[in-house]
Amino acid sequence: MNETDLKTKYRIEDCTRCKNECARACPVFRQYGKHHPQELAHAFLRDGAAGDHRLLWTCVTCRACTEACPFKVEFADFIRELRVGRSDFRPVHGGIVRAYQLKQAAGPKPGAAKARISWVDKSLELGSESGVALFAGCVSLFDALGSGAAPGSFAGMARAAVRLLNRLGVAPAILEDERCCGRDLYDTGEREAFAALARHNAAEIVKTKAKTVLTMCPECAYTLKVTYARELGEQPFEVRHVTEYVAGRIGELAFDAGEETFAFHDPCYLCRYLGVEDAPRTLLAALSSRKTIELERRGAAAPCCGAGSLVDHGPHTRTAVDERLVEAHRAGAGTLVTACPKCTLTFAEVLGGTSWRRSPVDVKDLLTLAAARLSK
Ligand code: SF4
Ligand code: SF4
Repeated sequence: MNETDLKTKYRIEDCTRCKNECARACPVFRQYGKHHPQELAHAFLRDGAAGDHRLLWTCVTCRACTEACPFKVEFADFIRELRVGRSDFRPVHGGIVRAYQLKQAAGPKPGAAKARISWVDKSLELGSESGVALFAGCVSLFDALGSGAAPGSFAGMARAAVRLLNRLGVAPAILEDERCCGRDLYDTGEREAFAALARHNAAEIVKTKAKTVLTMCPECAYTLKVTYARELGEQPFEVRHVTEYVAGRIGELAFDAGEETFAFHDPCYLCRYLGVEDAPRTLLAALSSRKTIELERRGAAAPCCGAGSLVDHGPHTRTAVDERLVEAHRAGAGTLVTACPKCTLTFAEVLGGTSWRRSPVDVKDLLTLAAARLSK
């Protein structure tokens, strides 16, 4: 794509150099005082691919800049495009996740499909008649990372999703050979590997005959719903986050509410990319007799947890978690609840590596909490 096409596609020329709302919203700019999205765009267009563009990788593709920009300049997508063909980044987790994702795209070893559904146990009702499928995502991999989260807690999210659905009379299908959705590969420029995963997963979903696909991970939801449609054309199924489905039928569920003071951390892909804010709050409100606290930065204005595409984590990642926990604590919340495995992973990793173990704010997963509170 040439410079003119890039500028047009991502609306770079729409920028009027206003009061830099984009930079003020950007967690990376706030940390380092550079990485101004607009300047990054202009530097790239000026210097071309040969320039020193390492800052491309600290962007967490959170879309907070676009949300803040009066002209909706699409920096996150622009940055994704600039990353294609580059590899000057540091994957986190010693590259384990990256290697796993690439292997998933290339064709994993026999047995990998079974390992991905190791979270399934006999207490869960699964089936092929409900018209609903659950795309569980990389929970088994996340558990294997030893992030500081309770052992098995990511697998527990998948079981929690099924338990909530079972209580609604839905026995969801699972894919025979589900693979990573490919979000991180797409966002780090591995477009061919992403396309292979999109084709594979879409075909696996079609095999289930489900008309509704639910995911626990907002990134999976957006990828299956929007990025697969862009890559492959419209698909014969709708995609929703589990909280959307459960909140839509909340009147059919009974919970033993506790007395905690909850606050909700909106995951980027749920609040900004999918525009879903109310559904998780509806579910959370049913779990405590106390009113959920609304944080100052909420909904589409919520900050990223810092995870991004799991590359080039640094001080900005730690700051993102610290700031959010301080915000929740100051607002009077005892528990910060989120609805994204990647947010949970990032909070656990940062908490595990700092004095924040003493934080008075717990971090919990919404679906796991909700399933544990289903009335007997
Ligand atoms: S997507 Fe997020 S991290 Fe990237 S430039 Fe925009 S605000 Fe900054
Ligand atoms: S917020 Fe939008 S218009 Fe303002 S400086 Fe940033 S890109 Fe330009």
